[in-house]
Amino acid sequence: MGLLALGTALEWEEARKHAHQVREWGIKQLLEIWNKAKGKERDAMLWGDEVEYLVVTYSEDNPKVFLSLRQADILRALENDKDLNNKGGCTEVHHDVDCNDSTPLPVFHPEFGRFMLEATPGKPWGIGFKELLGVELDMRIRRKLAKEHMNSEEHPITLTTFPRIGSPGQFTSPYYPVSGPRLRSQFVPDEIANPHIRFPTLAANIRTRRGRKVQVNVPVFKDVNTPSPWKDPTVNYDLHNWPEDDDVRTGGAAPDNFIHMDAMAFGMGSCCLQITFQAKNITEGRQMYDQLSPLGPIMLALTAATPVYKGFLADTDVRWNQISNAVDDRTPEEMGEKIPGATKRARTARWIIPKSRYASNSTYISADPRLRPEYMDPDLVIDPAIKMQLEAGGMDGLLATHFAHLFIRDPLVIFAEDLQTLDLNKTDHFENIQSTNWQHMRFKPPPADNSIGWRVEFRPMEIQMTDFENAAFSVFMVLVTRVILSFDLNFYIPIAKVDENMATAHKVDAVLKDKFYFRKNVFPTSRPSRVSSSAGLNGMSGGSSSSNSSSRNGSPGSRRSARQTPVGSRPPTPVGPVDDEYTPMSIDEIINGTRQARYHAGLKRQQQQQQQQQQHQQQQNGTWSSHGEEEEDDSYDFPGLIPLVESYLDSVNVDVRTRCELATYLDLIRKRASGKLITTARWIRDFVAAHPGYEGDSVVSEELNKDLIGAVIKVGEREARGKGFSGLEEEGVRGFERMLGGFRATSGCYE
Ligand code: ADP
Ligand code: MG
Ligand code: MG
Ligand code: MG
Ligand code: MG
Ligand code: MG
Repeated sequence: MGLLALGTALEWEEARKHAHQVREWGIKQLLEIWNKAKGKERDAMLWGDEVEYLVVTYSEDNPKVFLSLRQADILRALENDKDLNNKGGCTEVHHDVDCNDSTPLPVFHPEFGRFMLEATPGKPWGIGFKELLGVELDMRIRRKLAKEHMNSEEHPITLTTFPRIGSPGQFTSPYYPVSGPRLRSQFVPDEIANPHIRFPTLAANIRTRRGRKVQVNVPVFKDVNTPSPWKDPTVNYDLHNWPEDDDVRTGGAAPDNFIHMDAMAFGMGSCCLQITFQAKNITEGRQMYDQLSPLGPIMLALTAATPVYKGFLADTDVRWNQISNAVDDRTPEEMGEKIPGATKRARTARWIIPKSRYASNSTYISADPRLRPEYMDPDLVIDPAIKMQLEAGGMDGLLATHFAHLFIRDPLVIFAEDLQTLDLNKTDHFENIQSTNWQHMRFKPPPADNSIGWRVEFRPMEIQMTDFENAAFSVFMVLVTRVILSFDLNFYIPIAKVDENMATAHKVDAVLKDKFYFRKNVFPTSRPSRVSSSAGLNGMSGGSSSSNSSSRNGSPGSRRSARQTPVGSRPPTPVGPVDDEYTPMSIDEIINGTRQARYHAGLKRQQQQQQQQQQHQQQQNGTWSSHGEEEEDDSYDFPGLIPLVESYLDSVNVDVRTRCELATYLDLIRKRASGKLITTARWIRDFVAAHPGYEGDSVVSEELNKDLIGAVIKVGEREARGKGFSGLEEEGVRGFERMLGGFRATSGCYE
């Protein structure tokens, strides 16, 4: 079950002294596994999902709903269930779900929040299409198993956040008073975190390293009755328990118009949906890492599910930035803040770091010749000594740059016992740094025993309320990955633009209202035969990107010679300015295709012909203007990810029923992107707005919270019965059809 071995976790003052040693040893362990695994070939195309749950305590007769802190008991109950563990595969507990004996039992993991669970499939999924259809069932089994090892009042739910975590009054069961020595939060008790020493130490060391509490400030949503300016009424400016209580008095920690939160639990207590892919070799892994990266913000906006914090409606739709702030361990100096009175000599920071260690990723790593130096992050910070050490150990500059970037961070939790001897048959020190760099993509080397392959993890998606949706988004990402590899697609845009997209994804209803930078031509035909110099790419890390970006002025010849093998001997294709390669697109265009592409696909041909006839007529009458409202950038016609997936499915052998079932998943994605169906975030907002107890003042009251959670539980119970979602409206689950459209009940595949 993966609880880490116990040991003596060092407090920050002690831990910081050993940071260098951990990095040194971590790099040695990395080189060891790299040398062992770099030539690994033909690993199977496997993948696996991770689903995270909140455990809530809900009963009809209690007006309040709580977070249950019984994580450890629930995990123990699962572990000790002899029935489950002896038989494996299907047991009595599955009686009404259709599983078979070869189905391995799911695996449950602890998480940071003591009110959270994580569950993964018992073994990774293969790439067979039939297996894709097993995912949803497996997710349902996980939820069912979890429920069966809880008290009757406890429920596993897949909301990203508990709407009233940190609100005044009781929100955990059992109750604990706030303000403990680890978190020093004025809103949540220390007992909110998993008590395993690793987690409170992580929170405390982040806070100590920073020199103040974390600041998680989310703009409040200004509704008709929300005061302006708005002051977070739950902030207590008069606490004197800890020195950190000054943060709100003198540190400006709680600005007007922001919901103010001050602890790791507000971020790391959020649930997400992650997908890990195994590549056939390191080259393919690096390609997947790069190509999936620009899709991160798109999928974040499309899965938006987080509109409420600490009992208030927020003016953002997703969890990402809150987690980023909740674990931001940078010192004021590292954040580039001017320290009043600080002399140059007093400065200790090795560098200014533009991002939190939880952030969108900052490197591209593929040896793909289509990777232009201009795409790289101009602000990338690396540790040059570590890069040199990796290169001296035989790693290429591009990958060395990636790890030299991750290794600018300090290890946060160090166990004294691990500092005795360096064990090259382990990867613990490497993982210490690697797994506390929470970027939206993670490049996972094989474990020390080299038993499995190179993997890439896609981490931005928000968890969805139902297993149907979680399966749909998982399966969609698997299919998109297959499409990328089989069509050799090119999604590269500058990393700085991916960062901008990440910010855009936070906006309310960004999925429908905003545009995201996306590459115009993703097909390999424009692949330039010249090779981007890895030396040139590596040179970017100093922050002077534009100086050696030769293609901007159209003279690719000035590039330094390549280290990688050039691709064939095709004549060089001229490359234009990078900025011409991408354009702002709506998510509808990215998922379903641009109007032009739909036109070319023949979908709108008839409609278009009629339009043209009309225009022709108008032109004859002298009323037609070529600069009408319909004007749009016609320099691109992106076919859309769904049509690309469809044509991939057309090109492989899929039986009719499988295709039909996959189609229900694709249909959900398609309709979320087009706005035919709404996101979870929008559903929650509308649920709040329509609630009789809501006063238009952005407040999500206890009563409202209870009804919302009650609706979510009802949906879960309905899904567990496998009977589809229609009719939930009559049971008081308002607006649900607009989110899921009665899926399943209307699906013809089951007939
Ligand atoms: P982490 O929390 O570090 O991301 P987990 O073990 O919780 O890791 O989850 C990793 C996911 O990767 C799980 O879904 C698991 O099934 C999947 N997985 C495990 N082994 C492989 C593999 N060889 N290839 C692809 N996916 C794998
Ligand atoms: Mg996990
Ligand atoms: Mg994990
Ligand atoms: Mg997790
Ligand atoms: Mg993970
Ligand atoms: Mg969240």
